[in-house]
Amino acid sequence: MLTTLNAVVIAVVFVGIIVLSVSLYQGHNTYRRASEHFQAWWILLVLHGLFIVGYLAFVISIVQKKPDASDFIVVGLLVGGSYFVWIVNKLGQSVITELTRVAALERHRAIHDDLTNLPNRAFFTQYLDQQIRRHKVSQPQQLAVLMMDMDRFKMINDTMGHYYGDILLQEIALRLHRAIRKTDMLARLGGDEFGVLLDLSEGPRHLEKICQHIVEALEQPFAVGGRAADVGISIGVAWCPDHGISSTKLMKHAKSAMYEAKKTTIDTVVYHQGLDSHDLDRLHILNELCDAIDHDGLVVHFQPQVDLKKGIICSAEALIRWPHPRFGLLSPDEFIPMAEQNGLINRLSYWVLDIVMDQLKRWQKSGIHLPLSTNISATDLQDNKFVDYVMEGLSARSLQKPKLTLEITESAVISRHVEVQNVIKRLQKLGLKFAIDDFGTGYSSLQYIKKLPVEEIKIDKSFVLNMTKDNNDAMIIRSTIDLAHKLGRKVTAEGVESSEVLQLLSSWSCDRAQGFYLAQPLPIEDLNQALHENRSFITPVGAK
Ligand code: C2E
Ligand code: CA
Ligand code: CA
Repeated sequence: MLTTLNAVVIAVVFVGIIVLSVSLYQGHNTYRRASEHFQAWWILLVLHGLFIVGYLAFVISIVQKKPDASDFIVVGLLVGGSYFVWIVNKLGQSVITELTRVAALERHRAIHDDLTNLPNRAFFTQYLDQQIRRHKVSQPQQLAVLMMDMDRFKMINDTMGHYYGDILLQEIALRLHRAIRKTDMLARLGGDEFGVLLDLSEGPRHLEKICQHIVEALEQPFAVGGRAADVGISIGVAWCPDHGISSTKLMKHAKSAMYEAKKTTIDTVVYHQGLDSHDLDRLHILNELCDAIDHDGLVVHFQPQVDLKKGIICSAEALIRWPHPRFGLLSPDEFIPMAEQNGLINRLSYWVLDIVMDQLKRWQKSGIHLPLSTNISATDLQDNKFVDYVMEGLSARSLQKPKLTLEITESAVISRHVEVQNVIKRLQKLGLKFAIDDFGTGYSSLQYIKKLPVEEIKIDKSFVLNMTKDNNDAMIIRSTIDLAHKLGRKVTAEGVESSEVLQLLSSWSCDRAQGFYLAQPLPIEDLNQALHENRSFITPVGAK
């Protein structure tokens, strides 16, 4: 006959059995999820079985006698043990859950881009290969790859800073995502380059539609940092199997098509074989440019700048040209971007600087004290050796007070402006002056320029060329002159092509002018001739 005490003891032991079984059941799900961390599930099961056998044996022994003190100790141990196992199991469970969460996050991170949370290049390539295998590649236009690059992103990023550049990229990603279908994959391949994998199993007509949606999606300006930023897009298209049956080929070909789109005003270019020869051409031209820099195959022309009060040449700007054996005289716009993209710009800048310093030395010897200016690019100011190169160049030629101005664009000054300012200050200590080139084309304001240690502002020719037709351009020029003067900066207007413009600029107190109406960029002999004749530049020299 069971006494109440026996019944209580047995009930408590059964509670222990239940706790043990529940914790085993709970653990089962977790351990199954984390099978890579825990593989001895069956050992746990056997141990649990042994525990239950022990618990039941105790229950049987307690049924036949009145429980004594040692039985209560055993009951305590058994129940406590169950709770202990339950707690340890809970701990293990939370550790495994956390491990699984971290592992999943790591896996996600490895194949996604942190900024936009889009798949990255590795994921895109892998998925593309998978899709190529899945589709029957013999059927035409099953998959298309779009490679896309933003047109003015670099300039916006440089002028507004990386913080706003990142926000802009997130906005772009969002708009691109809305422009494609759920079945397509959008990835950020790096920088401002995005890729889309289009499933064309429902027909090739979707390709054109989606490209159009993408272009339209980016047409509206973006609001970044309280300003409107216009970003264009260039799209290169390659499809499977016509343009390749591997991710490498398709992406390479889509990229060639994208570069072609960048060069032209067309938004979207589909790959064709002719583009391969362009690639080879590019490589060939790049080698030729290297050669031209190394073997003095480039020439520098000098465009006079005229003092508007005195009407005489007060300076000249060095402008590079490349007399190409096959293509004739190439203008800098045709090869400077290539030099910038391929890490040749520093060598090119050093080459021009040498020519300019040599010329200053030659003039110094013959008593001519005309200042020269030369263009440098943003990467020059980030090159550690640049200041040393200038310093050594000046001292080797004994140019103590160099009449030399370096022209840099707004975006070059503003990007990483603290570093750039330091370099500018070091060069100014050597006696060099600085001018902001193409002023008005970037995103900065005069308010910002106030902080920069530059002596001169060159108003971009796009405003000057239009100023007699467009009141807004005229207003911009007038207010730039006024503000720059208030801030103690000299102003040069570029692109003066008529006497009407010249006179207006004079009446607005613009300091200097440069343009075809006054003089074309001239070979050094012609400039020397003009200086020798001491021509007044209110009558044009070499005007178009
Ligand atoms: P930039 O610094 O704005 O140079 C002025 C450009 O405007 C020159 O073009 C010049 O020929 C042109 N120009 C001058 N007056 C007029 C005018 O009245 N009307 C018009 N429509 N154009 C005028 P260029 O020589 O073709 O140079 C183009 C750009 O190439 C330069 O623009 C400069 O940014 C870059 N560049 C030239 N030489 C060098 C160099 O040695 N190094 C670097 N980094 N860039 C250079
Ligand atoms: Ca310039
Ligand atoms: Ca300019």
